[in-house]
Amino acid sequence: MNIPGRLKKLRQAMAEKEIDAILVSQPENRRYLSGFDGSAGFLLITPRDAILATDFRYTEQAGNQAPDYEIFRTVGDMADWLPALASRLGEIRLGFEAGHITFAQNRQLSAIIAKAGSRLSLVPVNGLVEPLRAIKEPEEIELITGAVDVADSALAHVERVMRAGMTEKEVAWAIEKFMREKGSQPVPFEIIVASGPNSALPHARPSARVIQDGEPVVIDIGARLDGYSSDLTRTFYLGAPDVTFKKVYDTVLGAQLAAIALLKEGMSGEEADSLARAVIEEAGYGEAFGHGLGHGVGLAPHELPRLGPKSQDRLAGGMIFTIEPGIYLPGWGGVRIEDMVAMGDGEIRTISKARKT
Ligand code: ZN
Ligand code: ZN
Repeated sequence: MNIPGRLKKLRQAMAEKEIDAILVSQPENRRYLSGFDGSAGFLLITPRDAILATDFRYTEQAGNQAPDYEIFRTVGDMADWLPALASRLGEIRLGFEAGHITFAQNRQLSAIIAKAGSRLSLVPVNGLVEPLRAIKEPEEIELITGAVDVADSALAHVERVMRAGMTEKEVAWAIEKFMREKGSQPVPFEIIVASGPNSALPHARPSARVIQDGEPVVIDIGARLDGYSSDLTRTFYLGAPDVTFKKVYDTVLGAQLAAIALLKEGMSGEEADSLARAVIEEAGYGEAFGHGLGHGVGLAPHELPRLGPKSQDRLAGGMIFTIEPGIYLPGWGGVRIEDMVAMGDGEIRTISKARKT
């Protein structure tokens, strides 16, 4: 964990935005910049200072996990402790993560500003830390690869144990139990097991529906190791695949492999998306691919970059993201295949290894 390096990059971004300090409240950003993984606290970062403000429950943990930070023990609401902290900094333009602050916190901030007068001005900022998180350090790549390995083996496991007659919930639990026993922390998102017509819903929740022979089953899972997630999907078929399944599956797989083969460093998320979308449109299923091609994965299971029809995010070395085309046919079902890839030195490398039938 290169905290000084991360802080250096953040300070450059702050200078570009002309802010003197930033109050970081988004949990993954807080963890990324400090190493502290407690569930409450704020970072106050200036060109010189790095302060981690948290309450008595977390001060000891904060001291252990964030040695690069001065630990400030908070008492009461933000309105009670922030003015004292901010007054140490003199006249400042304070950035705050507008997208990650509660309404109550926003009101407190406004009250603080009213009291501080001209010494303190607030600047809403969004997306200052997230682009830094998109480029992974070697140690992060190692953790993500470990989380991918656990999900890979869980997919192999489910292929062995899933039978017609089990409910979606039973299959989801078998996967979750397996991943926890293989060392996963609590899973980063609810496992998707969607059978038959349910698989036409990209974000179906596992239900009491009994899985039958002769229908697709979309399984989308992630493990978590030391905070880092994986995100993989396979679509299974119990029994001998019918003509529709074969055609849809081959189209999705063809789209995915085309994207992986043609993707280049420097492409936009939109260009990457179009590589797969062209294959699906060609097969006549353009309308049935209703989501973007992929997304970054790291401390959050969904983060930058975005790969989708409107994304101008540039794909750069060090990024790890999913490639997950899908085709969803209401009433019949769906097929999605999701792998995770790493971009490095202009080359794209597939991290996940789960079998694709
Ligand atoms: Zn997924
Ligand atoms: Zn995904």
